[in-house]
Amino acid sequence: MPITIINRRLDLQEFRDYISNYNFGSQPANKLVIHHTWRPTKDKWGGAVSIQGLKRYYEGKGWPAGPHIFVADDGIWLFSPMREDGIHAAELNNRSIGIEVVGDYDNERWNGRTKENALGTIKLLMSQLKIESQNVFFHRDVSSKTCPGKDITKEWLFSELDDFRILPRIPGIPGVSRAMEGVVSVSAPIPGLTSLDDEVKIPVWSAEAVAWVHRNRLFEIHSDEDVRDAVKFYRFYKLMKES
Ligand SMILES: [Zn+2]
Repeated sequence: MPITIINRRLDLQEFRDYISNYNFGSQPANKLVIHHTWRPTKDKWGGAVSIQGLKRYYEGKGWPAGPHIFVADDGIWLFSPMREDGIHAAELNNRSIGIEVVGDYDNERWNGRTKENALGTIKLLMSQLKIESQNVFFHRDVSSKTCPGKDITKEWLFSELDDFRILPRIPGIPGVSRAMEGVVSVSAPIPGLTSLDDEVKIPVWSAEAVAWVHRNRLFEIHSDEDVRDAVKFYRFYKLMKES
């Protein structure tokens, strides 16, 4: 039987917008269940191709649904609709959101973009659905599997979630290589810019713009909005200089 999947890939900011407008139904999920895919491993993940493979896998089992989300290096993939119960964790299926972190975490922890996307997804859903940490479950809480991986502990997860901040949305600077955008946040990138609040984490590729605004004493940077303005001003300056 074919199952319905959303089949969309979002980045963290898009995911935040998506869930803030999403209709979670009259009885929204009140817990999260964290998994790892184990297979495919991170190396074998092929984005849309893997999603289709997983869809066929769950259909082959005769299940009417699967988990709700797959988190990978390339983004947050929406699978079964979050307003419906998925099938991923036996007695925890009811009113839960099943989050699969792509990879095998029996011998390593989440890292890179996958870590960023996983922590962000969990944090955003906890805040949107008002889910407390005692309602964040691991698959192994109700199964003999090691899922979401022996190396993932709740102590580690909650301490990482405490420290995690989602990056502000910032337009790219022309001429700054897209490869640089993969570099994650820095919290105090500019020497002397001590007023930069801890909450304002900016990608490394926008640090140049913030430094330029600071050097030219254009305005002070206190918020995500200021960082965005800095990038816009810097972009304009570069364009003028190049033309
Ligand atoms: Zn699992």
